[in-house]
Amino acid sequence: MDNKKYVYLFSEGNASMKNLLGGKGANLADMTSIGIPVPQGFTVTTEACNKYYVDGQKIASEIVEEILTKMAELERISGKEFGSKTNPLLVSVRSGARASMPGMMDTILNLGLNDETVEVMANLTNNPRFAYDSYRRFIQMFADVVMEVEKRNFENLMDEMKEAKGVKYDTELDANDLKELVKQFKALYKKEKGEEFPSDPKTQLIESITAVFRSWENPRAIVYRRLNDIPSSWGTAVNVQEMVFGNKGETSGTGVAFSRNPSTGEKKIFAEYLMNAQGEDVVAGIRTPQPIEKLNDDMPEIYEQFVQIVNTLENHYRDMQDMEFTIEDRKLYFLQTRNGKRTAQAALKIAVDLVEEGMLTKEEAILKVEAKQLDTLLHPNFDTADLKQAAVIAKGLPASPGAACGKVCFTAEEAKERHEKGEKVVLVRLETSPEDIEGMIAAEGILTVRGGMTSHAAVVARGMGTCCVAGCGELKVNEAARTFEVSGKTYNDNDYISIDGSTGNVYGGAIKTVEPEISGYFGIFMGWADEIRSLKVRTNADTPRDAAQAVKFGAEGIGLCRTEHMFFAEERIAAVREMIVAKTEEQRRKALDKLLPMQREDFIGIYEAMEYRPVTIRFLDPPLHEFLPTEESDIADLAKEMGLTFEELKATVESLHEFNPMMGHRGCRLAVSYPEIAEMQTRAVIEAAIDVKRRKGFDIVPEIMIPLVGEVKELKYVKDVVVRIANQIIAEEGVDMKYMVGTMIEIPRAALTADEIAKEAEFFSFGTNDLTQMTFGFSRDDAGNFLKHYYDKKIYESDPFGKLDQTGVGQLVKMAVEKGKATRPNIKLGICGEHGGDPSSVEFCHEVGLQYVSCSPFRVPLARLAAAQAQVKNPRK
Ligand code: PEP
Ligand code: MG
Repeated sequence: MDNKKYVYLFSEGNASMKNLLGGKGANLADMTSIGIPVPQGFTVTTEACNKYYVDGQKIASEIVEEILTKMAELERISGKEFGSKTNPLLVSVRSGARASMPGMMDTILNLGLNDETVEVMANLTNNPRFAYDSYRRFIQMFADVVMEVEKRNFENLMDEMKEAKGVKYDTELDANDLKELVKQFKALYKKEKGEEFPSDPKTQLIESITAVFRSWENPRAIVYRRLNDIPSSWGTAVNVQEMVFGNKGETSGTGVAFSRNPSTGEKKIFAEYLMNAQGEDVVAGIRTPQPIEKLNDDMPEIYEQFVQIVNTLENHYRDMQDMEFTIEDRKLYFLQTRNGKRTAQAALKIAVDLVEEGMLTKEEAILKVEAKQLDTLLHPNFDTADLKQAAVIAKGLPASPGAACGKVCFTAEEAKERHEKGEKVVLVRLETSPEDIEGMIAAEGILTVRGGMTSHAAVVARGMGTCCVAGCGELKVNEAARTFEVSGKTYNDNDYISIDGSTGNVYGGAIKTVEPEISGYFGIFMGWADEIRSLKVRTNADTPRDAAQAVKFGAEGIGLCRTEHMFFAEERIAAVREMIVAKTEEQRRKALDKLLPMQREDFIGIYEAMEYRPVTIRFLDPPLHEFLPTEESDIADLAKEMGLTFEELKATVESLHEFNPMMGHRGCRLAVSYPEIAEMQTRAVIEAAIDVKRRKGFDIVPEIMIPLVGEVKELKYVKDVVVRIANQIIAEEGVDMKYMVGTMIEIPRAALTADEIAKEAEFFSFGTNDLTQMTFGFSRDDAGNFLKHYYDKKIYESDPFGKLDQTGVGQLVKMAVEKGKATRPNIKLGICGEHGGDPSSVEFCHEVGLQYVSCSPFRVPLARLAAAQAQVKNPRK
């Protein structure tokens, strides 16, 4: 047994204990200490959660003891008693991880009720309706969360009761109806579980805490963690808090508040509430909530106190807050606060405003915007002309901005399946629940019939940057028939709809989308990021168009121009094929002569688009299977062009077949076999640079990059070809031009021998796509098929092709950096694998001392911000 403390009263914790108490627990402790009216309670730590898993999914007896001791202290603090026949204490049990994971784990309210305490509550409050309403909710939540009895079964009983009574809302059921429902719920529980509903509050408590720990590993939490880079080793804390009741009648209520508008960032409290309601009612969209301004009419003194607390919390945390509050008999409580999730637009405005209000420094503000979120800013809007022609068929709430268009889809599973088959879908739901997460990720957009701006769909979609229209009550959805009806027309799953998450409009057809405009806040904020960061950001671009786009997004050069990508076009691929299948040097040179002018023109376009910025050109690296002709008609055409018979060429193509093209005759291996390929490419690179220098005056220093090197001698062999041709052209042209020759480090052997390789390479660019492929031995093309089993079994938590594996691949990068610098202290170092656009990988690149990252054009802003965040967290000169 260890001497660790596993349970803390709110009054024992503080704001710095997030790792141990979770975000919610640390904030509850902090709110208590600054005098916010918080119902008291205690937090079971994340370490207890981890121990629960280590101990084989069991809460150790000493932790159970500690929980019960704290419960006794809570009884003293509240003056109430757990299970008391005179003054019973009821509590809520909620999850609270280090990072907020809205709706991903479980919550249980009204714990402590049983057949006896419910009667005491009814008498004490003189409100039997309230008591039985709370009890039926508890049975339902406990059964669902702890015992895994389907929630739907209880909802059906509730619906039957409402129908029998001829009422629409649950609030219209009276105490006797609810008492009857409690009976039915308990009978259902017994039928499903073969035992009575547990009446002992202590059993209820320990079972519920266990269930919350268990929910840390539920499928939706796992998906959410993978999406948000949250390691499973963090665990969740559990908060046990005295209940206050928003469902005590018309002078009670509950709500959700944001201190600023989470969609737009406007500096104005944004809150919704429902009278006579509890917990989930506001976000579940069962009744439509009221805007907070109405509270000013109904209970002005409470409204004033509410506004004051919201402001206090925002000033205290120096960030936009997302809060839950409850009014119990005209007394206001805050149940939790956290930094609010927000759209990318709102995040930028809030960050800039907070600096201008003097609340944050620029460095602090830089950390307030999630780099990944910037992606959403760069997403398309509707084409205005197309939009004018389109008919609005319904209007809902503008819950998460952006534009989406796709075919109608009614379930999350189907959205996922159809998306995987390449279809674009809009997910249409009555309301979403956390189980829908994968479908929500797969959908282009989300449309819900019920729910307000703080509904699950709205909050989650905003976090993901997915367009969402919520609460569109005009839609009559028939899930069984897979149709919905609106404005007299029926839509089925073959129909296109379009939704606008910025206006709430729903359109009955497909609308073209266009590139977005970027706001002034973006410019100001990104300007700060650029001032702060030390890591440069380049782009991976193979066309002048992409290069120009990337410059608009702030790219400072090209880190990877994949020359083989320049030959995918129909009219060009024939010349590349001719080069590949050539049997003699003469044939090959003939094909290369056709490629040279195309290649030179492309480089001219790229140099012009990049102006004075550096450009790294990677020599041909065509995995053969991407280029060889397979269609008989293509083989016939090519044979004709080359003066061969069909059979002759077919035999050559077959002889070139490789069992593993990714490890085959590609990269520098091609130039080793056929140096004339490197000759042609060198000629194109240098002649284009001379041309642009003469015409435009840009002093270009081409960076020639040799791919797939694993041995210094193979680099030297290709480099000698490059240098011979380049120097010859420069001398012939009589220009003063510098160029560099470097290599990619993308084969483990190159990393291991980087000191040798640096003798020849003037720069290294880490090709972490291949480096990951070859370090893991996972095929880049096939790993997706089996990696999901690794996630399920927790062998890996994220895709190593998306997020750099710092433990393994990262160590090779680090080693190569050190070895490279030891040989050549001023060696230029960058990364051009996909990881160059992933925030945590960018941070790693900063830490190991690379000079730049290179990523696709649309990820350039994200990389600029991630680089600035890395500098704030760990400054380097
Ligand atoms: C790499 O391997 O990381 C790389 C950038 O090259 P490619 O993706 O073209 O193989
Ligand atoms: Mg590669």
